[in-house]
Amino acid sequence: MRILLVEDERKIASFIERGLKEEHYVVDVAYDGENGLFMAEVNTYDLIILDIMLPGKDGMAICKELRRKKITAPILMLTAKDKLRDKVQGLNSGADDYLTKPFAFEELLARVRVLLRRKKTEKTTTLKVADLELDQLRHKVKRADKEVGLTSKEYALLEYLMLNANQIVTRTMISEHVWNEDFDSFTNVIDVHINYLRNKIEKGFKKQLLHTVRGAGYILKDPK
Ligand code: CA
Repeated sequence: MRILLVEDERKIASFIERGLKEEHYVVDVAYDGENGLFMAEVNTYDLIILDIMLPGKDGMAICKELRRKKITAPILMLTAKDKLRDKVQGLNSGADDYLTKPFAFEELLARVRVLLRRKKTEKTTTLKVADLELDQLRHKVKRADKEVGLTSKEYALLEYLMLNANQIVTRTMISEHVWNEDFDSFTNVIDVHINYLRNKIEKGFKKQLLHTVRGAGYILKDPK
């Protein structure tokens, strides 16, 4: 899951970024409104966390602009103010939820999870393909009831493949949802990580779940 954070206060931005990365999210950060709007337009995000008071362009204006351009990623607004008027304005401009500073990271995380789940319109937090299971709350992966230890990147990659199970996932889709802006598309980094992941989830098992589709990408499916 890839998240864009637009926050001009560096301390708060790095606190949120660090926390989200620990939860295996992929995070891009913009420190002003113009750049935030630009990044939200050119990249594909599963969620946008948007501060209201920003230099360049404020959060409300960005939110309106994104919705006008049919960018439907859920938006969580952050603000130092807790006046009802701002809340109403924020939600009117197209935001999905609202969080008042200061807040505990756990509170932000809870809102993030709800918004990401709402997008998927699923209530379950466990993804399953054949005997492979991924628990999105505890970040645990099991194959045939045996726990599989994954790195943060392998986990994010597997989660994305499982969310899109039974359909071809292209390298472009993977790079957009599992890597952040630092991704260099001229390397074979995705294939390398797919191989690491394959080794961990398939070694010793008869049934192959993760398949390479030549010239297209990858597919995770239950062969039955
Ligand atoms: Ca601010």
